[in-house]
Amino acid sequence: MIFPLKQAGSLLCWFGKSIRLGFYPRKLTPELRDKMVGEYRKSKRRLILLDYDGTIVPFADRPDEAKPDEDVMNLLRLLAQDGGNEVVIVSGRDRKFLDEWFGDTRLSLVAEHGAWLKERGAEWLFISPLEDDWKKDVFPVLKQYVGATPGSFIEEKSFSLVWHYRAADPKVGESNAKELRGRLKSLAASLNLEVLEGSKTVEVKSSGVNKGRAILHWVSRGGWDFMLAVGDDATDEDMFAVLPKTAYSIKVRVAPSKARFVVESVGDVRSLLREMVGIPSG
Ligand SMILES: [Mg+2]
Repeated sequence: MIFPLKQAGSLLCWFGKSIRLGFYPRKLTPELRDKMVGEYRKSKRRLILLDYDGTIVPFADRPDEAKPDEDVMNLLRLLAQDGGNEVVIVSGRDRKFLDEWFGDTRLSLVAEHGAWLKERGAEWLFISPLEDDWKKDVFPVLKQYVGATPGSFIEEKSFSLVWHYRAADPKVGESNAKELRGRLKSLAASLNLEVLEGSKTVEVKSSGVNKGRAILHWVSRGGWDFMLAVGDDATDEDMFAVLPKTAYSIKVRVAPSKARFVVESVGDVRSLLREMVGIPSG
């Protein structure tokens, strides 16, 4: 027996056995958006958590090409210059990249999916002691897939390794990614790692590093009367999971998620931010 799929969420049941597929968040309709922006305006202490890639900046073939453009820099500047706002970029990017683009702004930063955080104007803080000697076991595996997938390459971060295949032949890329994930998952269990399926990436990171832990640094301070988190992929789910129920959480892609609401694109996120800072759209 299959229960009818509801718009707000779905639970597939098969002979009484339920398989949690996750819930599809509600579409952020213009009415809900107005309500949210209204609450934003009324509030005094606001926490705004924004993922970077695929959320405020579109993906590019190579991660170093996905640079923030003037439009988004301007939006972030306007958001952060409001004294009531604490704006945090919560990214999988490394510290160098975030420093290069946001180092001299009033933004706070989280790098490498939560391994590092930086309060605005302060130094980088390392969140937990981690090991990276697992890399010597994983590196050779990824190298094989670079060899078998022309156009793909490996990115090394302090506590993760990423195989990028956006520039590869899509068919070859997808099929090799699937195979690679399978291989890594068996390695991951024994090495205490997590395998993340990103957008045209397969990433392996130490377990225990996650965006949820990192944002607790701000969330646990309390006293916020408006909270918003926006993100597009699996790593952002950890962030949605630790937010209080009253917070606005937005997934940028129609997919099952712990977020309350969904929008479809980077363009939607930007137009929302534009509305928040009071720039007329269009
Ligand atoms: Mg992202």
